[in-house]
Amino acid sequence: MKCIFGIDLGGTQIKIGKFIDGKLVLKYAIDTDVSDNGKNIINDICVTIEKNLNSDTLIGIGIDVPGPVKDGWVLGAQNIGWKSVNVKGEISNRFPNVLVEVLNDANAALYGEYYCGGAKGYKNVVMMTLGTGLGGGIIIDGKVYEGANGSSGEIGHICIDKNGRDCTCGLKGCVEQYTSAVGILRTADEMRKSCGKETMLNKENLTCKDVFDFAKLGDEVALEVIEDVTDKLAIGAAAVCNTLNPDLMLVGGGVSKAGEFLLERLEKKFKKYAFYSVRDTKFALAKLGNDAGIFGSFYSVWCKVDESSNL
Ligand SMILES: [Zn+2]
Repeated sequence: MKCIFGIDLGGTQIKIGKFIDGKLVLKYAIDTDVSDNGKNIINDICVTIEKNLNSDTLIGIGIDVPGPVKDGWVLGAQNIGWKSVNVKGEISNRFPNVLVEVLNDANAALYGEYYCGGAKGYKNVVMMTLGTGLGGGIIIDGKVYEGANGSSGEIGHICIDKNGRDCTCGLKGCVEQYTSAVGILRTADEMRKSCGKETMLNKENLTCKDVFDFAKLGDEVALEVIEDVTDKLAIGAAAVCNTLNPDLMLVGGGVSKAGEFLLERLEKKFKKYAFYSVRDTKFALAKLGNDAGIFGSFYSVWCKVDESSNL
């Protein structure tokens, strides 16, 4: 059988999916070896593919990486130790005559959601991925928009307060500093200290999920934190929608597990900040969770194979 591999290269794990006839038939994960500036990573991936090919014929490999991508090159991926790496070239050398696609991880997640998840059926989509940071991806007319140097969709670094919190990017007041899991915990910590009220947020080892859970239980201070988070996220979302006018804003990442509770508040506040003609932009939750990357990487190949009618 002809098969395609969809690979999601993350900072701690590499998730690998084997697809036959458009269906995920095998899924496994290996640890990301970041030693020696990650020089073993591509070989580890190729070996894993070879091991799991069995009697199937490999026709394509899609891989997403945690950094900007242009023409098959990764232009730096700090958390796996990479500077400029020709991922497409290196994998193609190992597997000649196989279609190889390389894409940014946020874009891959978006592709996955676009083809078979929460954004299915929409043509113009922006995804906000709320995790440790706030990532983004843009699909215009059914195609991922990468930008001049692969840096499109950096929604997390929209400035919402020029005198605000320092950001890891070197700027101040980036929306990510308030709406990522890390940012939410920081706000929770500040509010719990300054509120002068009893609050469940005083729990030891508070997690971002706790903050949402306590808010859902009606804890006043936790609710205030969520109001603040969704307000700031709505300002960022409005800036994006005023610019791109997408059909859909898709909300994904670990923080989005808070579900409708988060989405309802975000949508309500969004209407307050958005230009009147984009005020009715639809919002939805991502559906594929941690598998979005392998599905998106797979589809980046599948849609091309399909077009050239090799299958
Ligand atoms: Zn920033």
